[in-house]
Amino acid sequence: MKILIVDDSEMVRNFHCYILKSQGFQVMTAVDGADALEKIYGGDHHFDMIITDINMPNMDGYSLIERLREDEQFASVPVIIVSTEDEAQDKTRGFEAGADVYIVKPTEPELLVEQVLMLLGN
Ligand SMILES: [Mg+2]
Repeated sequence: MKILIVDDSEMVRNFHCYILKSQGFQVMTAVDGADALEKIYGGDHHFDMIITDINMPNMDGYSLIERLREDEQFASVPVIIVSTEDEAQDKTRGFEAGADVYIVKPTEPELLVEQVLMLLGN
């Protein structure tokens, strides 16, 4: 299982990598939505899940998810948003964009792992 972690904060990327690697997942990282699209379309990587921040330069998380959902190939890839935004309207927008799960930072490792496993059907 390979997961793409998208966040403009290096600290958050490292933290999420650490959590997921400790569970045996392979991870790759991207620094914003545009970088994520390059990694998704540019290489020969297959990602089983995307975990993305919302607030990022160049392309935010909403736009990234919308772009992926428009592509038949990625219409059903599991997507988790992990964001500092805690308002109902942010969550609604995230789900409307096509996210499956919305987690508020700071990330609780147990919650992230639980949601990842749930989305992967374990
Ligand atoms: Mg951010």
